[in-house]
Amino acid sequence: MTEHRHTKVLIVGSGPAGYTAGVYAARAMLSPVLIQGLEPGGQLTTTTEVENWPGDTEVQGPDLMVRMEAHARAMGCEIVGDIVTSLDLSKRPFTAQTDSKTVWTADAIILATGARAKWLGLPSEEKFKGFGVSACATCDGFFYRGQEIVVVGGGNTAVEEALFLTNFASKVTLVHRRDELRAERILQDRLFKHPKIETLWFHQVEEVKGADSPLGVESVVVRHTKTGALTEIPAKGVFVAIGHAPASELVKDVLETHHGGYVVVEPGTTRTSIPGVFAAGDLTDHVYRQAVTSAGMGCMAALDVERFLAEHGTSDADAASSSSAPAHSEA
Ligand code: FAD
Ligand code: NAP
Repeated sequence: MTEHRHTKVLIVGSGPAGYTAGVYAARAMLSPVLIQGLEPGGQLTTTTEVENWPGDTEVQGPDLMVRMEAHARAMGCEIVGDIVTSLDLSKRPFTAQTDSKTVWTADAIILATGARAKWLGLPSEEKFKGFGVSACATCDGFFYRGQEIVVVGGGNTAVEEALFLTNFASKVTLVHRRDELRAERILQDRLFKHPKIETLWFHQVEEVKGADSPLGVESVVVRHTKTGALTEIPAKGVFVAIGHAPASELVKDVLETHHGGYVVVEPGTTRTSIPGVFAAGDLTDHVYRQAVTSAGMGCMAALDVERFLAEHGTSDADAASSSSAPAHSEA
């Protein structure tokens, strides 16, 4: 059965950008609806301590996101556990179809679908995904108590994951393709001082090796980027932390994108190439990609929507049905 519903503002995504947009749009009396997606709370639910969220010297990522959700809800944002499967942005009101077969129409849309982990693209990585290969230390680190682990990457995520994994592992080898990390200095200092972490510079993962029955990782073959020499490192776990790509599949063919799929917004605003469609957070940002910058853009998007709707009005359907009650259902 298909359910049809209408809202003035549909927010797609439940990371810092989405929830902040929810708080602001609700306080502007726009009765927003927010669709959470597959990862309620977004990327911060995959980490532990967050030390750069203003006001909290240290806060657990998942706790922060639970608080953001509660905040948006308390302000009057309706939060829906569903996934947007397709969007029609060709005319207003815009249409969103969801996994649960609800068809939403919306006078304005805020896209806040964030980013997802990148993978190395090796067949052996694919083979052992979920059986020793992971992109989330917080989720899977616990399984590697007393074992040797390899972490791949040189950014903040890789260094944080390596440090976190020392809570479980007997040894962590950080494999990086250059001899310089992108990670913040404070994290680098912690990494280099840690007795359980070894850093392997100028190396790329060539192959993940392991047993077939039961399926499980036993070692990682790495190649020296300059000499080509191969080394096999014993490891029960491989954590790939080589960055994130924007989750722009829903809109990449209809909205202007750049730098590998990031949605283009007019500088200083959250306006996309389609009037009435706004984008915020990591989906648009190939530079900063922080919780606080995403939250800031979520605020901007809600304010941009408020101005847009004041100027362009809402649809007739809006008068006919409230955002909190189904408009009609059909079999
Ligand atoms: P995200 O957090 O990526 O959330 C995207 C949301 O969109 C998710 O809820 C997802 O379910 C939803 N979504 C996607 N597709 C759909 C769909 N089709 N339908 C409906 N919903 C959809 N930043 C910091 O400032 N400090 C840190 O300490 C920090 N630590 C980090 C640690 C790790 C391991 C990682 C991976 C990132 C970290 N970051 C940190 C970066 C920070 O998490 C991101 O910048 C921030 O989460 C981006 O917020 P966002 O709202 O744009 O998107
Ligand atoms: P990132 O900063 O883009 O770093 C990705 C790392 O992976 C780089 O070192 C890169 O190497 C390496 N890499 C990329 N592709 C590779 C490949 N195919 N093979 C091997 N190595 C590869 O990504 P991130 O660390 O996930 O961080 C993403 C964003 O989230 C950043 O803005 C970051 O600041 C933010 N974040 C913040 C915190 C925090 O504030 N504490 C924590 C986590 C994440 P090169 O260096 O050679 O390019």
